[in-house]
Amino acid sequence: MRDKRQRAKHRQPAGPANQAQGFPPPGLDRHLQPLLGQDYPALLKALQEAPPVSIRLHPTKRFEHDLAAVPWCSTGFYLDERPSFTFDPLLHAGAYYVQEASSMLLEQVFIAAGLKDRELLALDLCAAPGGKSSHLLSLLGPGSLLVSNEIDRRRCSVLQENLWKWGMPNSVIANSPPEHLQALPACFDLIVVDAPCSGQGMFRKDPFAVAQWTPALAEHCAMTQRNMLPLAWEALRPGGVLIYSTCTWEPQENEAQLAALVAAGAIAIDPLPNAPWGLVRSEWNGAIGLRCYPHRVRGEGFFIAAFRKPGEAAPRKAARTGPSSPAAVEVTQWLASHTERSFRSQQDTLFVVDARWSGVLDTLDQALKLVSPGAPVAELHAGTWRPHPALALSSDLRQDSFPRVELDEEQAVQYLQGQAIPAHEAHAYALATHRGLGLGWLKGAGKRWNNLLPEAWRIRAQQAKAPRVSWSRTALDQNEQAP
Ligand code: SAM
Repeated sequence: MRDKRQRAKHRQPAGPANQAQGFPPPGLDRHLQPLLGQDYPALLKALQEAPPVSIRLHPTKRFEHDLAAVPWCSTGFYLDERPSFTFDPLLHAGAYYVQEASSMLLEQVFIAAGLKDRELLALDLCAAPGGKSSHLLSLLGPGSLLVSNEIDRRRCSVLQENLWKWGMPNSVIANSPPEHLQALPACFDLIVVDAPCSGQGMFRKDPFAVAQWTPALAEHCAMTQRNMLPLAWEALRPGGVLIYSTCTWEPQENEAQLAALVAAGAIAIDPLPNAPWGLVRSEWNGAIGLRCYPHRVRGEGFFIAAFRKPGEAAPRKAARTGPSSPAAVEVTQWLASHTERSFRSQQDTLFVVDARWSGVLDTLDQALKLVSPGAPVAELHAGTWRPHPALALSSDLRQDSFPRVELDEEQAVQYLQGQAIPAHEAHAYALATHRGLGLGWLKGAGKRWNNLLPEAWRIRAQQAKAPRVSWSRTALDQNEQAP
């Protein structure tokens, strides 16, 4: 929906977007004043303050810190100021994801819907850049499979990079329009629709959100959402859960959308009946939503609601796996988990999923354009399989499968900038690590380690524009294997 050049025009230093001229955009008062009533001036004031900075930690790539917790998310934390994340090796190691705090409410809704510790087939329909998907991967029970779909090809590449760095197994990435769900009726146990929206909730984080907002944009987004939701509903299994969210306050993009689902028999889930932490609970035509306003919560604008589809689904048929290829046998030695696996190769890359999902993956493959049909583990290079860049960051990498070269912060930044690492006697492949966490691969060339980090993952800037992140430097945890 957003054009890169238009965005660049509105780019400005970090800080409240709305100190720029043109705020509030024409027509906004008419849309929000009736909704907020006497709270409206407080909202406008909050929208002119600096947005809080928050991150969500990876569940197993742990490191020591002393940050303040986001109350509604077990892995969410606030930072006091916005540092240069780009120059922090832990970001590149997938140890955390920079995400605004309100959208971390997904965790509360997930728990309230009874989804914890279950083995689910989940779909994140509008997934880029990967905030909800990486959170879902942290929340889903072991043995679940997440399909992260993004319609926009360029945004899908960003999603892929972010999820590969998050490094959790049983993750599939697709690049399809929602209409392709028509070939997958009653398929998923959980569908998250984090819909494209008019973005009022992003006003203070993103100057472009202010510049592009018009009443017509809200109507256009409402139409897109109206088309998308029934497709998602039909792809949900009986007994399945649909979570709908936006980062806007427009009722036509929120409660009004959900009324149609209720009319189709959807049963509203009441995630937090007491609406703690300054949340606002909204109930309208049988739909129940939670609203976040920046004058009430320490986060941006957000709306979230959940529904259960009536009925009960039959258990899925057990999948059969075929014989393993020689490549799969070799690559299996690099992996930590002992579950039965299914491998498939696509464009010189070998991907793996838990064998129980292999039949489902065949079905998904017929309906969607799968750009990553599982976790990538190996790539074909000069006729042999070598470890894939994503495997370096995967929680499924067996810790002793490759030698490790631990880099301090300066060396890690140099590695991330694409530089070779001096060595005494370097041979074959080794894992470059920082604080015990994998960053990427090295290839020995005698007196140096050649750098195998993909071009697209490298830091292009020479120097940080803001202060570097300063985590607590004591008692580092070891990288832990996923359970
Ligand atoms: N869930 C993401 C996250 O948490 O990082 C953010 C998703 S963003 C709010 C909405 C996404 O929907 C965008 O990536 C956008 O490209 C995609 N989108 C735009 N138009 C769409 C359409 N007509 N159908 C499906 N997705 C669309």
